[in-house]
Amino acid sequence: MNLFEVADSDRKSQYRNMSEVLEACRIQDLSSSTNLKASRIRSLLNAYRLTKAYEPDSKVAYVVEQFPNELVYALGMIPWNIESMAILLAQHGCADSFINLTQQNNVSRDICSFLRGSLGVIMANCYPNPDIVLANDQPCDCLSKLANITSKNYRSPFLSISTPTELNEDTLDYLAGQQRRLMKDMAAALNMEFNEADLDRTVQHSNEAREYFCQTAELLRDYRLPGVSRELLEIFGMNAFGMQENVQLCKTLYQEASDMSKKPENKRSGKRVLWAGQAPDGSHEIMQYVEKEVEVIFWAPLWNSNMMKLNPDDPYRSIAQRAIEYHWHMERFEVNLAEVCDSYGIDGIVISNAWGCRNMLALSPMMREVCGEKKIKYLTINVDFMDRNNYAFNHVKNRIDAFLEILE
Ligand code: SF4
Repeated sequence: MNLFEVADSDRKSQYRNMSEVLEACRIQDLSSSTNLKASRIRSLLNAYRLTKAYEPDSKVAYVVEQFPNELVYALGMIPWNIESMAILLAQHGCADSFINLTQQNNVSRDICSFLRGSLGVIMANCYPNPDIVLANDQPCDCLSKLANITSKNYRSPFLSISTPTELNEDTLDYLAGQQRRLMKDMAAALNMEFNEADLDRTVQHSNEAREYFCQTAELLRDYRLPGVSRELLEIFGMNAFGMQENVQLCKTLYQEASDMSKKPENKRSGKRVLWAGQAPDGSHEIMQYVEKEVEVIFWAPLWNSNMMKLNPDDPYRSIAQRAIEYHWHMERFEVNLAEVCDSYGIDGIVISNAWGCRNMLALSPMMREVCGEKKIKYLTINVDFMDRNNYAFNHVKNRIDAFLEILE
C-alpha cells in the first residue's frame, strides 16, 4: 500500500511544520515527567538530537522500536524512531491532528493507534526526511510494514533484517550475518565509509550505559525510588544505547538512585504493581490515579534483553542475541515475568492493552497464568494513549478502583 508521497522534503519546512504543531500545543519541554536530574538531562538530550536531525547535512535513518541502533551510530547517523517520536507527541497531547489526518485518508481504525499516529505525522510532513529507512520486524511486523510504506512515501532506500524468534546457534549466525551485510549495504547506499573500529566504539558506549542501567534496575529490587522505574522505561524507549551522551544519562540516574537508596525511608514498603504493556506518560490521569495508591514498576526495562551487555569481541553475534531476546516470545517472557514478580516483590499486575495491538492480546493469557501460579492479582485495561476517541477515563477508573480494593 502506498498512500501518498511526501511532496516537499526540505528539512527546513519540515522543522517549521513540527514547530507549528508544538507551538499550538504549547509544548516547551518534550520529556520530563519526574523530578530527577536524569529526566532533565534526557529532555535536553532529546531536544538536541531532534533538532540536529532537521539540519540539512545530518544523516538520518528512520528505525523501528528495537532496532540495534549501535549499527546506526557506528555510521555517524541519527536514528529516528518513527513510532516513539509519535508517542512522545501523544504524551504531550498533540496527536489529535495527526490521528484526524489518517482518518481523512481512510486509514483503518483497526490498525493500532501508535502506527496510525506515526503515519499521521508523516502525512503532515513533520518528520525530517530520511536518508534511509531501516526495519527489523520488532516488536511486530506491522511496524516493519509501516517502515516499508514510509520509505516509499519519501522515496528513500529501504533495508530490512529479519529477526528469528528462536534462540540457538543457527539463528544467531543467521542474524549476525545479516547485520554484517546491512552495514556494508547501508554504507554503499549512502556512499559512506564504514570502519569496524567505529562499531567497537559504539559498543563500548552502549555497554558503559548498560552497566549503569542494570545497576539502577538492581537497586529497585530492594528500594522504593520514586520516578526511577519510569526513567528506566523512558531510557529504554529512547533506545540511544551506543550514543556517548547516553552514558552520562544512565550514570546520573544510577547516582541519584544510589543516593536515594541510602535513606532509611526509601526501603521497599507498601504495595507494588507491575505495569505490563504500553504505558502513558507519568502525568497521564491513569498513572496519577494508580501511583497515588501503589508503587508502579514498569516491566519492559526489566526484560532479559535490557539486562544484556554486548560482547566487544563479537559485537554482531551479541547484538543478534539481544535482538532475538527482544522478541515477545511466550516461554521466555513467562520465565522473565515470574522472576521479576519474585525478585521485585510484585503484588499485582496491570496488563495494559493498547487499541489494536495484537501482540499484547496474545501475551495476556500467559501473564494471567503467571498471576494464577503466584497468587498475584491482575487487572486488564483496554486503553488508547494516542487516539482519544477510543478511551474514557471513567470506564477505566471503575476497574482500577476494584483492582486497588482487592490488592489491600
Ligand atoms: S502497539 Fe502493538 S501492534 Fe502497534 S506497533 Fe506496538 S507492538 Fe505493534
